[in-house]
Amino acid sequence: MIKFLDLHKINARFEVQFQEQFKKFLKSGHYILGDQVALFESNYAKYCGTKHCIGISNGLDALILIFKAYKVLGKLKENDEVIVPANTYIASILPVIHNGLTPVFVEPDKETYNISTLEIEKHITPNTKAILAVHLYGQLANMKAINTIAKKHNLLVIEDAAQAHGAINENGKKAGNLSDVAAFSFYPSKNLGALGDGGAVTTNNDVLAETIKKLRNYGASKKYVNELIGFNNRLDEIQAVFLNIKLKKLDEDNTIRRYIAKRYLSELNNEKVKLPFYNNALDHIFHLFVVLVEDREGFINYLKENQIETLIHYPIAPHQQDALKDYASLNLPITEHIHKTIVSLPISPVMNEKEVTKIINTINLY
Ligand SMILES: *Cc1c(COP(=O)(O)O)cnc(C)c1O
Repeated sequence: MIKFLDLHKINARFEVQFQEQFKKFLKSGHYILGDQVALFESNYAKYCGTKHCIGISNGLDALILIFKAYKVLGKLKENDEVIVPANTYIASILPVIHNGLTPVFVEPDKETYNISTLEIEKHITPNTKAILAVHLYGQLANMKAINTIAKKHNLLVIEDAAQAHGAINENGKKAGNLSDVAAFSFYPSKNLGALGDGGAVTTNNDVLAETIKKLRNYGASKKYVNELIGFNNRLDEIQAVFLNIKLKKLDEDNTIRRYIAKRYLSELNNEKVKLPFYNNALDHIFHLFVVLVEDREGFINYLKENQIETLIHYPIAPHQQDALKDYASLNLPITEHIHKTIVSLPISPVMNEKEVTKIINTINLY
């Protein structure tokens, strides 16, 4: 069976280093917000090219704290509208709702599946205060256009970079450094994944960084001195140990993913399988390789019979989830069609050429 993603194989590559560093961690006796979190924050800020990185418990919490911090700072208030892509994982949208803000769902571009910048403009009202850009599947959203729109209408721009660690734009700038502030997830299956939950916020804004740093730790910057009504949303020290080791291999891993994607794109040749858009640039790290197939169930079963595992990211659009009933009446045909027909093929830095070839040959015979 070719697994969709072999997480053990991915992490087994670091086993010796993990064990060495774990011993030091154990011995340190410092298990919360210790040297390793501080080191990771400095490493990851440097990697992204931002002034600040704040380690957070997970990607969802990172987004929740970003919106919360903007409320604390008076930049956002209850019921303000936030433009969100309709075509995303629900974790992009929940933070808006948790903060009492109103998500405004915008359809994607038909080619990239990222938010359509033409559609953004049509949804701006006097209550619009922010745009949440998601780099879906690892491909940068059109940040140039998004930032231009934001500037024109005086809006905040927040990146959900949970799927885009290391994606680089045409000017050499990385995901996480393309707007006011960004959220990352280090969920184990992400391109930079911990061995448990993890997340981060990156920004160049000193005040915002300081506020988020307080919010993640009970609202305190000094122990037992609480300035804000905070949370416990800290990145775990042990996860920082793993992330410091794995970060060094991120670029190499992304290169392998791009290589596999290029093989798929040049060798897959079946008119029933619509391939994703890719311009051969570094702005895509192929967190997922997503194809569109009208008879999705038949395609998935055919691959399963041929020992190839696939997944769907995601089978139900956020506005069609029971949890978001208030938005059920929205008419979002592009988003709905995408959710009905997408299939994610295996792609990972530990796949070998033979597996890629087998997947290509099998799909070409479908
Ligand atoms: C994974 C993911 C999140 C949430 O991250 P967690 O660490 O699982 O909370 C948010 N947005 C997107 C686009 C994601 O892929």
